[in-house]
Amino acid sequence: MSSVSMPHTAGNGLEPGFRGVICASFGAAGDTADKQSDSQPKLNLHFEAATPEALSELRSALGSSSVGVRLLLSGPTADIRAAAAVAAECGLQQEEMTLLSAESAPRVIYCPHCHSTTATTEPAGAEVPCQGCSTDLVTTDHFSRRMGAYLGYAARVEEAS
Ligand SMILES: [Zn+2]
Repeated sequence: MSSVSMPHTAGNGLEPGFRGVICASFGAAGDTADKQSDSQPKLNLHFEAATPEALSELRSALGSSSVGVRLLLSGPTADIRAAAAVAAECGLQQEEMTLLSAESAPRVIYCPHCHSTTATTEPAGAEVPCQGCSTDLVTTDHFSRRMGAYLGYAARVEEAS
């Protein structure tokens, strides 16, 4: 509901030889479609739509970092398909791209145990195994802006602490 755009990634320039994940999101969707743990370098790009300008910016980002980079695209299907086509021109293979269309609306669940995030299309209340520590997480509707993810909690407490 907030229309405030967070400038916290400003100045996050792309180094030559960047090896990590480029997350490009389109449209009004948030930039939380993130299946990767935070251990990898990440570049977040957000575009209103797959305009020629947006695509050329994406092209230049990919052009300087075509080796070892992975691309995560989220947003309306038409936009991410256009972006995927540009990425393919830049030499990315299909398996190096993840397309998350807005129609499937994936949610990112934050794990309080290992602090990694797991993307899922399951509704709130479902159990999702954590990517990081395999704990079964119950998904919630509590979105944490600080974490950029929905908060999860362990479905079963298996270890005493
Ligand atoms: Zn975990």
